[in-house]
Parts: sequence; C-alpha cells; structure tokens
Amino acid sequence: MNTMLIHGGTIVNEGRRFQGWILVHGEQIAEIGQGDYNHNLEAAAATQKIDATGKIVIPGAIDAHVHFRDPGLTSKGDMSTESAAAVAGGVTSVLEMPNTVPQTTTLDALARKFDLAEGRMHTNYSFFLGATTDNLAEIKRYECNGGRLVKLFMGSSTGGMLVSDGRALSALFAEFGGVISVHCEDESIIRTNTERYRCETGDDATTSIHPLVRSAEACYVSTARAVELADRYEARLNVCHVTTARELTLFGEGPISQKKITAEVCTPHLWFSADDYARLGNRIKCNPSIKSPADRDALRAGLLSGRLDLVATDHAPHTAAEKSLGYWNAPSGIPSVQHSLPVMFTLAELTELTEEKPLPLELAVEKMCHAPAVRFGLANRGFLRKGYKADITIVDPASSWGVSPENILSKCGWSPWEGVRFRPRVVCTIVGGRIAWDGTRVTDLATGESLTFK
Ligand SMILES: [Zn+2]
Repeated sequence: MNTMLIHGGTIVNEGRRFQGWILVHGEQIAEIGQGDYNHNLEAAAATQKIDATGKIVIPGAIDAHVHFRDPGLTSKGDMSTESAAAVAGGVTSVLEMPNTVPQTTTLDALARKFDLAEGRMHTNYSFFLGATTDNLAEIKRYECNGGRLVKLFMGSSTGGMLVSDGRALSALFAEFGGVISVHCEDESIIRTNTERYRCETGDDATTSIHPLVRSAEACYVSTARAVELADRYEARLNVCHVTTARELTLFGEGPISQKKITAEVCTPHLWFSADDYARLGNRIKCNPSIKSPADRDALRAGLLSGRLDLVATDHAPHTAAEKSLGYWNAPSGIPSVQHSLPVMFTLAELTELTEEKPLPLELAVEKMCHAPAVRFGLANRGFLRKGYKADITIVDPASSWGVSPENILSKCGWSPWEGVRFRPRVVCTIVGGRIAWDGTRVTDLATGESLTFK
C-alpha cells in the first residue's frame, strides 16, 4: 500500500493552526502529528514524502454548488475539464446541479450522470436531483434509496425547472427529509423589471442594469418565502448564493450543526460588485446578480458573524462567444471553481473586512471545507481526521500568480479574474490519497469517487 507523508507545513483544521505532519495509508489519513515526524517510525518510513515547509495544509475544499454542463451542454464544459479545473483550485469534492440536458429530474437521468462520472472525474462527486412541479413521487423514491440532494429553483428561469406553484412547494417542504437547496429569486418581480428595462433601454442595454432587473427585492421576497416554508414545515433548507444585505436579516447566527436553515454565499458575490459591470460586462452576469458594494461588504461581514454558513462558487461556464452577445441575450453564469480557494485566501490575507479584523484563514477553511461536509452529511470528508479520506490541499501563502488564459483549465478558457494576481497558489491537491494536481498540471488519473452520506 502506498504511504504518503506530508510534513513541515502549517496545518489549518477545525479552528486550529499548528505545525505538523499527516501520514496517509492508501486512501485514508492514518495519523496526524504535531511538530517533527522523526519519532514516528511509520511516518519516517513512508514511501512518498511531500515537504510542505512554509506551506499551509488544509482539508480539500468541498464545492456544494457547481454546474459541469454534462450531459448535453458540453461545448461549455464537461465533467473531465471542469473537475480538472476544480482540483487545480484545491477543490477535492463537488456537488453538481441538475440543469443539464436532459435535466436531472428523474432517477434514470441521475443514474446516467453517475455512469458518466465514472473514471472521468478528478474530484469526488455527487449530483442533485432537481425538483419540478410534478416529480414529488420521484423525490420520495430517491429519498428512500438514500438520496439527500434536492435542488429547487424557486422563481428562477435556469433551465426551465421553475417551481412557483404553492401546493407543489408546500408538499416538497413537508415531505422531503433531506436538505432542500434553493435558488431564490421571485419570477414575477423579475418579469416586471424586465419589461420595464426592455422598454427603457432596448438594444442599448448594458450589463450594469442586471442588478436592477434581477433586483435585491426579487431575492428578498423569494428567500423570505423559502424561509417561511421551512419554518412552517420544519424542513431543512439551504438558501443558495445569497447576494444582499437584506436577506441576511432572515438568517440566524450560530454553529451550522445546530441549524435547520443555512445560507450559502458564492465567491463571485464576495469578490465583485456592481462597480465592476462597466469593466467586465456580461463576464460577471450571473443569477442572482452581483449587487452593490454595500451588499458585497455585508456578505463578507455575514461570514464573520455566522449568518452565512457555506462558501461555494456556483461555477457555471459559458463560451466566450455566448458571453459576447448583447446584455439581453448573453447567458448568466461565471466559471469560478478553479479560483475558489485563491479568492477566499486572498480575501483573508489582504482585505480588511471590517475595521477591526480581516477574514481569518481558519474561517475560510470552516466555510469551504468543514461546513459543506457537515451540512450535507458527507461521510468521512471535510476534515483532517484520522480514518477520514485523504482529501488534502496544500497552498503556498508566499507565492503570487496572475490569472491568464494560458493557466485557465475550464473548457470555456476565460475568467472574470483574468489579470488579477492571487496570493496564495495551490501547489498540491490530493484526492483519496493520490496527487490530482501537482502545482503545474493535473495528473491523468481521474480517481474521484462517488460521495457517500452518513
Ligand atoms: Zn447555480
């Protein structure tokens, strides 16, 4: 059996930071020690040694919100290319969304996705089942078979999987026992705004009107409705990609393990603001829209206060040609999975989030690595613990690098972060005890496996 030793680095895990070593046996973490490994005979005899001196060692990130476009939309991205981009960003597991073609709204379509993933995914994976107005029986069967991931588009037009019917919503919240992940934007408000701005701006519209069309009001009304439904039926709700200060008032603080209702925030909304539309246009057109600088600052503060529980990316690639269309015709979505940890660690290092304190590294690890595993009940993932799967990411905090088309691995080949310099660099990503990214290239082995649940 392959034994791997990672030594000399600073381990950041479960709120602690210490210098130490990790011994991996096959796919699993066999031992974690503080300080020098020399006194441990097994560690000293490891067949593969990785010197992480000066580096930070964390559990691999778990991205609970990605769109890999496979099957059916593979001109934008596929399971192989997008999971390669993910491991280059230090992500070792992903939960993938159902708005593919065909949509993942039946158990047959879901089974086909798992078949497609076999041997092609560089990260570990699972897939959401999408809710529709009439597939509750299918969702119940899914739950009986151990299924845990349901995605509900409550008033969003993404992929046509829109559920706004009151009875269908109530039934889902009353009857599904797993976490319901919801995209919250009120369709009728968006439709009214769209008519108004189409009339006012016509073909001259620029992306700067996007937060007026997909407004803060549309988010608040829909999120409030989801929270109200979850409260009424004591359902387990995760509100995806929260984008506004006002929505934060709907969520409680406190540890994720004690919450029925959790809130996710995505890296584009933490990094960009409406000030960036003039420069980046449709490249940062996404749904829900990127809002004001004040909203962005409130989201950063929400991570510190604990009102926001998870950080994901909503990685959603489109081709450059699609994004070069006019505002009304360009699709919404941003490729972001490759820059997930660099974004958060750069924010942690460089940005004064409040007057008093910057976002600490430990918090980024909590929100990106631990929280998704806890929220979705992933077995043996998300923490550096003896007996857990060896999903481990090593970053170099002293190394800065610039995003350019040559180092973008997503199939679409572009990023709104082009030209940005990040510090740190992800220098090694280990998935199930094997190196999936060595700092310069993705290994050819796609050894990701299907995630299991507690
Ligand atoms: Zn999404």
